[in-house]
Amino acid sequence: MRSTGKLHLGNYVGALQNWVRMQDEYECFYFIADWHALTTDYADTSKVKQNSIDVLLDWLAAGLDPKRCTMFIQSHVPQHAELHLLFSMITPLGWLERVPTYKEQRENIAEKDLSTYGFLGYPVLQAADILIYKGDFVPVGEDQVAHVELTREIARRFNGFYPATGRGLKQSFTWTGDVFPEPQALLTPTPKLPGTDGRKMSKSYGNTIMLTDPEPVVRQKLKTMVTDPARVRRTDPGNPDVCPVGDLHKIFSSKETMAKVNQGCRAAGIGCIECKGWAADALVQVLLPMQERRKKYEDNPRLAWDILEAGSAAASQVADATMKDVRASMGMSLEYEPPRPPETAK
Ligand code: SF4
Repeated sequence: MRSTGKLHLGNYVGALQNWVRMQDEYECFYFIADWHALTTDYADTSKVKQNSIDVLLDWLAAGLDPKRCTMFIQSHVPQHAELHLLFSMITPLGWLERVPTYKEQRENIAEKDLSTYGFLGYPVLQAADILIYKGDFVPVGEDQVAHVELTREIARRFNGFYPATGRGLKQSFTWTGDVFPEPQALLTPTPKLPGTDGRKMSKSYGNTIMLTDPEPVVRQKLKTMVTDPARVRRTDPGNPDVCPVGDLHKIFSSKETMAKVNQGCRAAGIGCIECKGWAADALVQVLLPMQERRKKYEDNPRLAWDILEAGSAAASQVADATMKDVRASMGMSLEYEPPRPPETAK
């Protein structure tokens, strides 16, 4: 996750909630991508570090547990950069120019100069981020599938050039002759989570409900939330399936509340204010325990930093082992090797 600062409900529903579940099913590495943040925000780096810490606090608040997963900041494990450099040597330019988000983002973020090497190479850095842990799966949304596919192509190309069994290697590898596995995208169905204006929840639209919003703020934001436009008057029937508040209910409310919403909205038996109040109740129930967990780390930020340091050390160990395999397969190990005897002519 990029170091964007405090997270909102969209980040929670779209990724974080799933990550919390996955900690018990997989050996998970979660990192805050501060170098990725630089690909678009390179001109002002003054907030990057604090933004990273804010992301970490929200992760801990949401239930990521350092005993069940590894959490760290990307730049604290510089092996990512070394692998990125090596991958950049073998990745054809055309592959990067074809990545759909490259064109799309350059057009959408017109206020920044994105004609940089770092921005174009963003997916190569992502490939290094994934492959340095020899990841089997990457939990992503639809929009990131193309990046995982590119990662697979880079892994394939690397394995083709530098087979693990080549060049008199002594090590044996878990993957038959390949340094890298080809990771799979683990597509997670993410429910539609609209912002207060009905568009996708996003900081750039100013329509977010933050995980740190106190109860009165949540209630106030809900009050201003758009509803089914068919309900102009209290007596007009509505449809929760086309109402952003209805979408919130579907994610956060109990079956009983959902039944009341469905029935009351369609029969004009309830008002939108009442309905929004129930949605706010459900949201507050989810957010309050998170905010209590967050407070422990806000009061003692050193605790959170210690988690990061331990996570970086654990991630570094795995990354070091991979880099040894990588260098060896390329015939560039850091170890002394005695000169080879000259080849004798037959
Ligand atoms: S009653 Fe609820 S679901 Fe129906 S339009 Fe109003 S806010 Fe939306």
